[in-house]
Amino acid sequence: MLTYDFTGQVAFVTGASAGMGAATARAFAEAGAAVALVDLNHSAVDALAAELADQGGQALALRCDVSDEDQVADAVTRTVEAFGRLDMAFNNAGIMPPPADAADEPAEAFDTVTAVNLRGVWASMKHELAQMRSQGSGSIVNCSSLGGLVGGAGRAAYHATKHGVLGMTKSVALQYARLGVRVNAVCPGTIATPMVDRMSAAGELDLDATLAGTPMGRLGEPEEIAASVLWLCGPASSYVTGVALPVDGGFTAQ
Ligand code: NAD
Repeated sequence: MLTYDFTGQVAFVTGASAGMGAATARAFAEAGAAVALVDLNHSAVDALAAELADQGGQALALRCDVSDEDQVADAVTRTVEAFGRLDMAFNNAGIMPPPADAADEPAEAFDTVTAVNLRGVWASMKHELAQMRSQGSGSIVNCSSLGGLVGGAGRAAYHATKHGVLGMTKSVALQYARLGVRVNAVCPGTIATPMVDRMSAAGELDLDATLAGTPMGRLGEPEEIAASVLWLCGPASSYVTGVALPVDGGFTAQ
């Protein structure tokens, strides 16, 4: 993996207690950044903050539901109070509803996934941007999905949120292109995280079919998403903004 030196910089990661959020928070800390760990699951982010502190890192655990704008605003404020600035953000918190025939899907299911996956990213960007605008610098990476690039039968609501994340990413990237703030998205394929474990256990994901349909023939690892997020946040991608980067073992090349 490329190595980075983010000493003196501050990262904000939502959905930091598990999966690709936890892997990215660890990678930021290993690269020297102070990290705000933002998640619904407070005990898990507390434990991760303690782990990172034991390794000599600086981490702040923040309980926050990203679907609640006030909580997101407070999390950003507390991050800046603790660490003095905000340089990088990975807006990653997301949920996957059970698959549904679009003719039968309850409105509540649509509203719940939209509140977290779409409005959560909107609220996170909004409050991160206010700080980054005042600094004149920053780099934001939003978590979309291969579901932001292609459709999925039974997945209309989830894929709508992930397509929406790309629309926000590109629009904000254009708005901030001359203001020192870059905004990009990663589009993970199927990654070995607790989300995928739960889907597989519930019979909502056929792993054999997924592997057969993935050109590389394997799941991605959360650390492979972390590597792409750090690249998008760091100086090596200084001329990159508004992209939707597939990290999917070749899935969307088909
Ligand atoms: P995960 O379920 O393993 O972890 C998600 C984390 O987000 C958990 O720590 C959870 O507590 C937190 N979270 C959930 N709702 C929240 C909320 N309202 N506020 C704050 N935190 C919340 O998921 P993952 O697989 O690591 O997925 C991370 C992101 O990647 C999600 O946006 C997901 O849609 C997306 N994604 C996942 C895959 C995959 O194959 N795993 C593929 C493409 C995209």
